[in-house]
Amino acid sequence: MIDDLPPLREVVARHGLDAKKTLGQNFLFDLNLTSRIARAAGPFADTVVIEIGPGPGGLTRALLAQGAHVVAIERDQRCLPALAEIAAHYPGRLTIIEGDALEIDAAALARQHCASGASEPARARICANLPYNVATALLTRWIEAEPWPSIFDRYVLMFQKEVALRIVATPANRADYGRLAVLCGWRTRARILFDVSPAAFTPPPKVTSSVVELVPNSAPLACNPQALSRVTQAAFGQRRKMLRQSLKSLGVDVSALLSGAAIEETKRAEEVDVAGFVALARRLEKLGG
Ligand code: SAM
Repeated sequence: MIDDLPPLREVVARHGLDAKKTLGQNFLFDLNLTSRIARAAGPFADTVVIEIGPGPGGLTRALLAQGAHVVAIERDQRCLPALAEIAAHYPGRLTIIEGDALEIDAAALARQHCASGASEPARARICANLPYNVATALLTRWIEAEPWPSIFDRYVLMFQKEVALRIVATPANRADYGRLAVLCGWRTRARILFDVSPAAFTPPPKVTSSVVELVPNSAPLACNPQALSRVTQAAFGQRRKMLRQSLKSLGVDVSALLSGAAIEETKRAEEVDVAGFVALARRLEKLGG
């Protein structure tokens, strides 16, 4: 028991919250597990947590029970009455926003809830069991945000394990190393905290999930995120080809680009580390690409 609210299965049955696949709905009912995820994101003194997709509110309840202020964005209207019951149980601590997280500026939202008065939270964090269909789009948006570091001091997020491996990969993990790893490796220190078996969810997904922690680097190598995105898109878009070939689509002098970044023309994308991609992105901007 983490609170006096009814069991989640009862809440789901009472509000008719049959899981919808189109919304990536795989709910967690095990309060031990939701508490473990919340603990990984804590401690929460003076902290507002933005949660994406609270659904019936399992993780939300764990975050609140551990002292967080929570601002939860949920797209499925059917979940709102169940979430309103939780908000009533924690007066002034849970704000529910109905909407599509892809259309909401999470940092602006966090700023609204941070430090506008002495009683307001001073820190902001994102914690979520993300809907899998929009998980990488959301993460990319948060990590490409300007200015950096953003308002968030940490991101504790559940992904499909396959995506988690792509987030934390280095050139040593060739199959998983790609655009996501370069972006996350540039601006954060990312690690997998623990795996969660499909059996923990209702309904169970086909694959294992992982909880990932991303801690922002306060001073990442200077680089324009758009330029980095263009370089990694070109390089990994043809990852089996040598860079002298794959980078041609950037429309600049590829030899000058590679030599300016001190990278051999015969290298492939998966052999270039984050610092190498940052050097390429900086050179691309200099070359006017
Ligand atoms: N947090 C709950 C849990 O752990 O049991 C539910 C997690 S479930 C994997 C993902 C949740 O995200 C669902 O409640 C779904 O309705 C919601 N969702 C899906 N797409 C969304 C979007 N674009 N914006 C906000 N919420 C979304």
